[in-house]
Amino acid sequence: MNPPLAPWLQQQLRSLLAQRGHALLLSGPSGLGQYDLALALARSWLCEQPGPDGACGACGSCHAIDVRTHADLCVLMPETLSLELGWPLDEGAQKEIDDKKRKASKLIRVEAARDAVSFTQFTRSRGRTKVILVYPAERMNIESANTLLKTLEEPNGEVLFVLATEAAHQLLPTIRSRCQSHAMVWPGEAEALDWLLQQATEASKPVAREQAAVWLQAAGGRPEDAMAWAATGLQGTTWAQLPQALARGDWGTLAGWPPAQQLAVLQKLCHDLMALASGAPARFFPTEQLPPAPRWTALAQWSRELMGAARSVEHPYNAGLMQEAWAARTRQVLASRPSARSA
Ligand SMILES: [Zn+2]
Repeated sequence: MNPPLAPWLQQQLRSLLAQRGHALLLSGPSGLGQYDLALALARSWLCEQPGPDGACGACGSCHAIDVRTHADLCVLMPETLSLELGWPLDEGAQKEIDDKKRKASKLIRVEAARDAVSFTQFTRSRGRTKVILVYPAERMNIESANTLLKTLEEPNGEVLFVLATEAAHQLLPTIRSRCQSHAMVWPGEAEALDWLLQQATEASKPVAREQAAVWLQAAGGRPEDAMAWAATGLQGTTWAQLPQALARGDWGTLAGWPPAQQLAVLQKLCHDLMALASGAPARFFPTEQLPPAPRWTALAQWSRELMGAARSVEHPYNAGLMQEAWAARTRQVLASRPSARSA
């Protein structure tokens, strides 16, 4: 069984089910539940007895999706993510990975996109509808996207698409323009906190509301990202003290975290200092814990460097060296002459 949808996703599901285009694009920053919503839509479209709130959860179609074997649902994902989320790979691809001929791809491969196209041409096996779910859609390279484009333009029979993305600007404009766009809705703070507390309780790791609030702040208000912070065991006081610790060159708290998460902290710190330097409120850290904002030009340069680092963070040449370089650079930026405004 699928766990129930978060309430803010349930509301979006209801309104999306009421309008019906043949291709939906769910977009917004990470951590707002794009994948869960996309899957709930696919499940509702394929359900034998759907209601206004979505799939029934009890019919053969719902069950087939829950056990990842629905013949009329094609899930197009990077192989790494398919493996993580339990979606079966094409037999040939699985064998190549098992035989260590190559690693699982982090992109949506063109072979998989071609399979999706031929999927639309097979005879339907269950009902009238077929669904292609693409997530994260920005992981299609140009070849994969172009392969899918033709089917998206002229769907063969009753084919519905749901694409979900955390970086809509990286999609081909031709893909974006073929889809009806839906901007993911942000949950309210209280709603997100209730959900986080419930997740923690269900995982038998109940937490105090204040602690969950720290995770949510660290995640900039995005509940699923807050779950990732929870998984690091991040404590409230630790988070608040991070900017000062990093300014001292103390990397101790971050050292055990995955590189991507370390980088995310630096990006958040940079964001907050830029906000401070321009007179706006900080978003991720308590304002009183932030060091004086460095000059704008220094922050802008650091921000560009961090963005560059983010592009290669999943396959660093040497994680230890990278971490040392980040620590040194962070200390340097934070120690540079403050901007006139915050001085
Ligand atoms: Zn059903």
